[in-house]
Amino acid sequence: MNFVAEELGFRSFGLSEDVFKGILDAGYTVPTPIQAQVIPVMLGGNAVVAQSMTGSGKTAAFALPMLERASRDKSRSDRYLVLTPTRELAEQVAAEIKRLGRHVGVRVAVFIGGKSIGRQAEWVSRGFDVAVGTPGRILDLYERGILDLGSVSEVILDECDRMLDMGFYEDVDRILRSTSARRVSFFSATIPEDVERLAHRYAADAKRIILDGDKQVETIEHYAIDVDERSKFWELERLLSGSNKSTIVFTATKSRSRWVAEKLSARGHRVAYINGDMPQTKREQTLWLFRQGRINLLVATELLARGIDIIELERVINFDVPQDVHAYTHRAGRTGRMGRRGEVISLVSPRDRQAFANIEVTLNMRIPPYPQR
Ligand code: AMP
Repeated sequence: MNFVAEELGFRSFGLSEDVFKGILDAGYTVPTPIQAQVIPVMLGGNAVVAQSMTGSGKTAAFALPMLERASRDKSRSDRYLVLTPTRELAEQVAAEIKRLGRHVGVRVAVFIGGKSIGRQAEWVSRGFDVAVGTPGRILDLYERGILDLGSVSEVILDECDRMLDMGFYEDVDRILRSTSARRVSFFSATIPEDVERLAHRYAADAKRIILDGDKQVETIEHYAIDVDERSKFWELERLLSGSNKSTIVFTATKSRSRWVAEKLSARGHRVAYINGDMPQTKREQTLWLFRQGRINLLVATELLARGIDIIELERVINFDVPQDVHAYTHRAGRTGRMGRRGEVISLVSPRDRQAFANIEVTLNMRIPPYPQR
């Protein structure tokens, strides 16, 4: 970034006053690296295929150009669609767009599973500028003839790799085919082959912006504790008793998340768990309690590993080591956001050892033993 751009910060993008006021309200002063690169390209009318980690400020990176276009489009003829892998991320992205777009007056609608179709049909008929949703529900609304995808002129795929990992390839492909979008942009922490394939088909001219890939955030400290499978729980309890940091404990399966949470609770910890089996309202309630700081210990499955922005999180504990390096990066990305400090501690049993070694090799990093024991 040159001196002038740095001096001007967000001013250097030449955004209109209404958009700029949203940035001021949010308290953002300096664009993050992904914003510095993505915003000018998208403002110039081009799509991007951007690789960046969660927590890097990518929501505002695509939201601000979208808001700028909406603020210039007096007839409000353009419609935008943002697809996210999870319901929670959809809510979070919609909240950020609403917050930044308050002075522009964009109408943002959220279309996610687990909520009444009837209510969502009402939102469609009332009109919206930006739709944020999960692929399954968006497609469902389209197939029922409620949502007209033909009127969508721009699509953003957020956390695209995760979306495809979750089996949404066909749905996303159908959605993209059904829109008349002139621009399709991809945001993805990694760019595996299936993301490439979609990008090639729908965003052949997009500008590639590769930032940090799987590089770890520098303010995060990584540690490992060697354990027997049977002593994992006691090791976890020891860690938790040693400090009161806000913590997410990741487990490999839904049943394990419940088992760990119930066992911790029985031993007097204030703890909640969250997994994909729970009704949406319960998931949201639990996340809310955690965000408010009413609970500072949450046991979760992979569901929470992507996208959810819990800024105060100080510690991630991998009760089970994830099977691949991308999952590790995403779990780790729950902490150390926007330059804050955080730690990731993995409990490595003989069963986890191979996967853990792979993670170390791929990240080119030796993860040291946890010191304070
Ligand atoms: P995201 O990667 O979009 O989930 O953003 C991560 C966090 O960074 C969110 O809490 C944003 O509100 C915040 N954020 C985004 N852009 C900036 C910025 N330029 N300055 C400070 N915070 C930001």
